[in-house]
Amino acid sequence: MFPLRLPRHKCRICGVEVEYSQVKVHYQTTHPEYGKWGRQLHMLMWLVLGSGVALVIVDLLYRSLNQILQYIIPAYLLGPCFLLIGLHVRKLIAFRDAWEKTHLLPNEKRTEES
Ligand SMILES: [Zn+2]
Repeated sequence: MFPLRLPRHKCRICGVEVEYSQVKVHYQTTHPEYGKWGRQLHMLMWLVLGSGVALVIVDLLYRSLNQILQYIIPAYLLGPCFLLIGLHVRKLIAFRDAWEKTHLLPNEKRTEES
């Protein structure tokens, strides 16, 4: 019979394929700075989401008093989402560049020096 092959995740930094059950462990052990950034990003996302929910509740309670809230809320929710995505992409590229600089294969180093 064929061996059971579980779906794998390709690491965004070093490119190594990891089983999905080991993705978190891989990032925490091999790329601890990226793992730390991921936790900070999750905290920021929950803060944005939580404050967005609070704004929606305020909007529902005081809709008749302030019509401008219906324009502020989508901007408040979408703006930080785009900022966080952009920030995450920049961090990911920086982590990948740092990884490549410190973990070049000997062949790649030789071609770069020549
Ligand atoms: Zn990796």
